[in-house]
Amino acid sequence: MLQPSNNLFRVTLLGSGAPPPTIDRFGPSTLVEVGSEKFIFDAGRGAMQRLYQLGLPFGEITGIFLTHHHSDHLVGFTDLWLTGWIGRPWGLRTMPLKVWGPVGTHQLVEHLPLAFSTDIRVRSHSYPPDGVKLQSTEIKEGIVHQTGGVTITAFEVDHGGEQLDAFGYRIDYNGRSAVLSGDTTFNENLIRHAQGVDLLVHEVTHGMGDGFERPNLERIRRNHTVPEDAGVVFSRTKPKLAVYTHILLFGDATAEDLIPATRSRYDGPLVVGEDLMRLEIGGTVSISRHSAVS
Ligand SMILES: [Zn+2]
Repeated sequence: MLQPSNNLFRVTLLGSGAPPPTIDRFGPSTLVEVGSEKFIFDAGRGAMQRLYQLGLPFGEITGIFLTHHHSDHLVGFTDLWLTGWIGRPWGLRTMPLKVWGPVGTHQLVEHLPLAFSTDIRVRSHSYPPDGVKLQSTEIKEGIVHQTGGVTITAFEVDHGGEQLDAFGYRIDYNGRSAVLSGDTTFNENLIRHAQGVDLLVHEVTHGMGDGFERPNLERIRRNHTVPEDAGVVFSRTKPKLAVYTHILLFGDATAEDLIPATRSRYDGPLVVGEDLMRLEIGGTVSISRHSAVS
């Protein structure tokens, strides 16, 4: 079989945070550069700034995949879409933006242009009108995109207790693979889809200390994954590297507590993600940090 000429498979955490509006962890968003394509998974707060730090014009992004419709995964979408259309080096979008996501994605894509119709009307005199168009696809579990040797598969996860569809994604390319959990509690379907994956990027929540009561943990645990449960996921999927993202902390818990809390169930490779952490998938998964973030 002919090998694709561009062998790149790199995952960059644009935002490793969650709803809290902190400056060090922007909202959930992950860039996947694979082959000749570049995808963004979720569009949390600050994704456009992180792309700018990478020197990557939004015009080069193939499309955006949404895991679910919680606002912390969406509030950066308008910024990517409209700022990314502006004809400056960080924008330059000339082609319609493709958006994949659960039920609700058509509605989002239909109504946002109405909300921003004045900006779109005025700027259409200066920039290519196609560059501000949106094309949505509502997904079900299964292969949702396949091109250039890249296969993207959506799988259902359990953002439990919430009445909304939620998906994780698996990206396969040239014998290598990455899985992004999206928001989920401990989930057998994720474990099925992540078997033997090279890179598993998984959400996590953790709470401890006086300010954090057990009933709160039980409620949060219906929607999110605590480190002990994530450890079971990692032990059963055996990724070459597991990375925590969507880091949601309660009480006195800190990011430094996450790995020790996981170790009772998993002793393999694990790092706590940071904004602009880059994970390059080759024979192994290598980690690098972007110098623009202190
Ligand atoms: Zn969520």
